[in-house]
Amino acid sequence: MGCTLNCTFCHTGTQALVRNLTTAEIVAQVQVARDDLGEWPSPKEDRRLSNIVFMGMGEPLYNLDNVAAAIDIIADNEGIAISRRRITVSTSGVVPQLPELGERTQAMLAISLHATNDALREKLVPLNKKYPIAELMAAIRAYPGLSNSKRVTFEYVMLKGVNDSPAEAKALVQLLRGIPAKINLIPFNPWPGSEYQCSDWATIERFAAVLNRAGYASPIRTPRGRDILAACGQLKSESEKLRASARRKLEQAPEAPSAD
Ligand code: SF4
Repeated sequence: MGCTLNCTFCHTGTQALVRNLTTAEIVAQVQVARDDLGEWPSPKEDRRLSNIVFMGMGEPLYNLDNVAAAIDIIADNEGIAISRRRITVSTSGVVPQLPELGERTQAMLAISLHATNDALREKLVPLNKKYPIAELMAAIRAYPGLSNSKRVTFEYVMLKGVNDSPAEAKALVQLLRGIPAKINLIPFNPWPGSEYQCSDWATIERFAAVLNRAGYASPIRTPRGRDILAACGQLKSESEKLRASARRKLEQAPEAPSAD
C-alpha cells in the first residue's frame, strides 16, 4: 500500500508506503475478485477471472518474497490454477531483481517505461537515475524464457506534449528492436494536483500507428475507473481518505465529557 518511488504521473506515488502486502493478502485479493464474479468455487473452464497483473499500487519487486509465494499458490494446479503465463508482474524497473523474478515465478513481465531517453524517464520514473534505460533494456533482454509467445509488455502513459510525439514513437521502436514485445498505450488519468494532461486522442492514435507499422501490437488501454479514481496510477488507498474523514468526524463531534 503506497509507494516509495514517486513516479511523477502516478497518484499512488504521492501516498507514503504504509507496508507491503502479505502473501495471504495478495491471494485473498484474487479470491475476493472470484467471489465477486460468482466464480468461487468454480470449475477451471470458462472462468471470467483468467489473467492477473500485479500493478497499480507499489513496486512488486520490493516485495518479491511475498509476490513469488502468492504466485506459487495462485498457479498451483491443485488449487486456483491460474497459469503462470497468465500472470504478469509489472515493475518500474528494479534491474537487480529481474533475473530472480523470472527464475522464481516464470511470470510474464511488464515494464513501466513511459520514456525513451534517460533525461525524460528520470523525471517521470525517478528510479531511472539508479537503473538507467540501457541497464534496464539489457536486463529485459536477458529475462528468462522470452519468446514470441512470452512477450514483454511495455507500458507507456500518454502525456500531452511530454512523451507523445511521432519522433518518440520512432525512438520507442528503435529501443525495443529485437525484444519480443507488445506496447500498452495508457491514456493518462488526471488526478487532483497532477502536473500532466492526457494526450489528445488523435495524437495517441498517431503514436499507435507508428508502432503498428513497425509490427508491434499496441492496444490503447480503455480508461476504466476514472470516475472512482481507481484507474492505473490512481490507486491512492482508501485508507488515507478514511483517515481524513475519520479526522473530520472527530473534529466535528461534540467534545466528550471529561472523566473526572
Ligand atoms: S507508477 Fe508504480 S512504481 Fe511508480 S510511483 Fe506509481 S505505484 Fe510506485
